[in-house]
Amino acid sequence: MKRPNHYGFIGLGRMGGPMAANLAKAGFAPAVFDKAGAAERAPPGSEAAASVAGIAGRCDAIFLSLPAGPDVHAVLTEIAAAKPRRATTVIDLSTIGIPAAEEAARRAAAAGLGWLDAPVSGGRAGAIAATIAVMCAGPRALVEAHRPAFAAMAKNVFHVGEHAGQGQALKLLNNFLSATATAATAEALLFGRAQGLDLKTMLEVVNVSTGASAASQGKYVRNVLPGTFDSGFGADQMAKDQALYREALARAGTAGAIGNDVAQLWQDAARALGAGDHTRVFEFLATPRKS
Ligand code: NAD
Repeated sequence: MKRPNHYGFIGLGRMGGPMAANLAKAGFAPAVFDKAGAAERAPPGSEAAASVAGIAGRCDAIFLSLPAGPDVHAVLTEIAAAKPRRATTVIDLSTIGIPAAEEAARRAAAAGLGWLDAPVSGGRAGAIAATIAVMCAGPRALVEAHRPAFAAMAKNVFHVGEHAGQGQALKLLNNFLSATATAATAEALLFGRAQGLDLKTMLEVVNVSTGASAASQGKYVRNVLPGTFDSGFGADQMAKDQALYREALARAGTAGAIGNDVAQLWQDAARALGAGDHTRVFEFLATPRKS
């Protein structure tokens, strides 16, 4: 199969691992790298590289799925400095916040690299099933050029704006809604349990009623009810995203009462749960605490 681009993928974690696997399954034969070990994480049909520079030297376009802004900036610096360098485009799938995405796009442009701010939503389950949504911000032509690769990893690929940072804005507001529904559902179910209601019954009723959300219909059924708490998204990651949203709200000056409270709740939860699954917020809120 003839491909116009040779792809690289850096960051083979909970999201990047399955996304790179789907890219490979579709025949793109990506070169992959992760600083924690590429060979053991390289999915079938991909090729493990020894370094970021190794990826930049042989790939036209490079996907990143990294923890946070400083990681993205560090990897971008390595890509920009690679000699020889074949890379012309970097597509960042990470959640890093608006200022970090704007700064990354500036640095990429200065190094002669195209940049797409393209965070994703749908969780590890969605990454495995290739049903995630991608929110791309940057030149439309760049999104279109890479649409076949996006389509291998995602069900819904949106071009949401021309400027890096706009993808982050959409991702942060979406995760605020998700974080709010996840925490509010825990509060509601704990209240119901204290009234003698059964967890499964409450979810059955709520999930066909007006209180339903992606949280109640998805993670509460899959990860909370069976007690597996295995959504693949950490409490620390949720707290990071809500802190980024809170900072963004403060800069925007728009209404933020709920956002501030939700960010505080997740910060408290992350202090107790650390990198434990964020669905354990149900257990966290069930534990009596001094107020
Ligand atoms: P993760 O921590 O599981 O994976 C990150 C990977 O990046 C790790 O394997 C790590 O070794 C690697 N890495 C870090 N620095 C590196 C470097 N300098 N060079 C090479 N590799 C490096 O994180 P994740 O859950 O896969 O999330 C990745 C990004 O996607 C984050 O920004 C997160 O907020 C976002 N996200 C996660 C989810 C989810 O459900 N887990 C959902 C949507 C978005």
